[in-house]
Amino acid sequence: MEAQIKLGRLLGVPIGLHYSWLIIAFLITVSLAGHFQTANPAWGPGVIWTTALLTAVFFFAALVAHELSHAAVARARGLPVRSITLFALGGVAQIEKEAADAKTEFWMGIVGPITSAVIGFGLLGVAWGLGWTVMSTPATPLLAMLVWLGYINVSLAVFNMVPGFPLDGGRVLRALVWWRTGDAGRATRVAARTGHGVAMFFIAIGIVRFFAGAGVGGLWIAFIGWFLLDAARASQVQLGISEALRGVRVADVMERNCPTVDGHLNLQTLAEEHLLRTGRRCVLVAEKGQVVGLISLHEIKQVDRARWPYTTVGDAMRPLEDLRTVAPATPVVEALELMGRHDLNQLPVVSDGRLEGMISRGHVLQLLQTRAELNM
Ligand SMILES: [Zn+2]
Repeated sequence: MEAQIKLGRLLGVPIGLHYSWLIIAFLITVSLAGHFQTANPAWGPGVIWTTALLTAVFFFAALVAHELSHAAVARARGLPVRSITLFALGGVAQIEKEAADAKTEFWMGIVGPITSAVIGFGLLGVAWGLGWTVMSTPATPLLAMLVWLGYINVSLAVFNMVPGFPLDGGRVLRALVWWRTGDAGRATRVAARTGHGVAMFFIAIGIVRFFAGAGVGGLWIAFIGWFLLDAARASQVQLGISEALRGVRVADVMERNCPTVDGHLNLQTLAEEHLLRTGRRCVLVAEKGQVVGLISLHEIKQVDRARWPYTTVGDAMRPLEDLRTVAPATPVVEALELMGRHDLNQLPVVSDGRLEGMISRGHVLQLLQTRAELNM
């Protein structure tokens, strides 16, 4: 989930919004206004809409706090955090690596619901201190805001503890199974299967409620279930890949005999003689026997086709010093993460300043396919 609207940074983590969040923010504000109107018919429209809008803004802040708590634990345990994005169904903290041990996984998962619970009970406590009694209708706009935010944060804590991927409870369940059995793969399967079951349960309840007359509310539950099902499958695939590649190093899969071309070659010749014939997507560029850069379809497409005969490979290439590289001993999973983060299809493998080979997404995919076919 990439952020389409960037809001800035908190604790060094970029915070952003997905467009779908705007729709939900609008729906929340409108439904809050309706809720306040029904509960306090004496309030004027100005008071109602101001309260609804402020409540929605604080709700948004509470979601960010929840995600930031995941991010803070991840960072404290040495896992880099790329960003936090809010979308229609909540937030995601994008953490660049999987936890390496059960304890990290456990704290990273459970800190979110704890944060939401602390915020929720804290706000209800403040409301209570200001004279609100449990189950009564809050009498002032401030109390109405505190009470709604209090309940919604407690509900968020409870909902997130449902023990299925991708919810926080799924991570906690995975951590516990991992810790008990010492088997990360088995823990993943248990959490994914439970997530699948939970999602099916939501879909079934949603459909039953829809036909029982709950209308859109029922469809909404079914929609959340469908989303959970999809996300459970995605996290299962991702963790499956990490496990299949456990222990595999870049040196094991990299291509050692990379074709090189001369930097003085023009792009027209490069395309016709080297790429179109072989189906290669990128080649290394050498000058006087030294590798000086890399040229791929991406760089070639930057140059207008009419200029190809007059542009040399040396002018269009990306110089070696500008390239991101990996070492032969780097785990393949890390190389994949690096390619994913920077939207690259290949990385030069460099050791002591010398080019050893290339690793591409295609190589890793082939490895996975071979392993899958041999069932190993
Ligand atoms: Zn969470």
